[in-house]
Amino acid sequence: MQGAFAEHIRALEACGARTRVVRTAEDLEGLDGIVLPGGESTTMTMLMERVGLYGPLRSAIGAGLPTLATCAGMIVLARELSDGMPAQQGMGLLDVAVRRNGYGRQVDSFEADLDIEGLAGKSFPGVFIRSPLVESTGDVKIIATHEGRAVAVRQGRIVALCFHPELTKDLRLHREFVRMAAAAAS
Ligand code: GLN
Repeated sequence: MQGAFAEHIRALEACGARTRVVRTAEDLEGLDGIVLPGGESTTMTMLMERVGLYGPLRSAIGAGLPTLATCAGMIVLARELSDGMPAQQGMGLLDVAVRRNGYGRQVDSFEADLDIEGLAGKSFPGVFIRSPLVESTGDVKIIATHEGRAVAVRQGRIVALCFHPELTKDLRLHREFVRMAAAAAS
């Protein structure tokens, strides 16, 4: 719909995946996985509702479609949302409460080295851009934290990140996601 999808396409294709931009409910047909990119969650939600994609996407992810959600994507999936636009709600598919732009104005963009569970090798370069702040978590597995807050979580086949791996050269998270989607499809 909107946001940093071109960068995700580049990263996924570098990992050997075939990609398709999803703009309508029909585009969901036959996918092995989906990425909800960063951008503006309010705009994304509004556009998805307008074209009739919101409900079918929610059903597909709820039924177990492997999903990588980054930044605004995490907001779209969240159970609870604060500082959203009036009437903005998350899909309620990810058991986190997030505050939009919760890292505050002064530090609205920053980088942090993250240790991510399950990723071998060096720390991961976390690029945060007006990111959501995870205020509390329920039934999710926290796979990375920054200053005591969850910044990467997993719940079933959903992986949700507060930061932007597609804006780095580090493909490890995309590679893991492609592997998870392929395993779920086979
Ligand atoms: N602040 C944005 C939102 O509320 C998210 C920022 C991002 O995706 N980089 O949707």
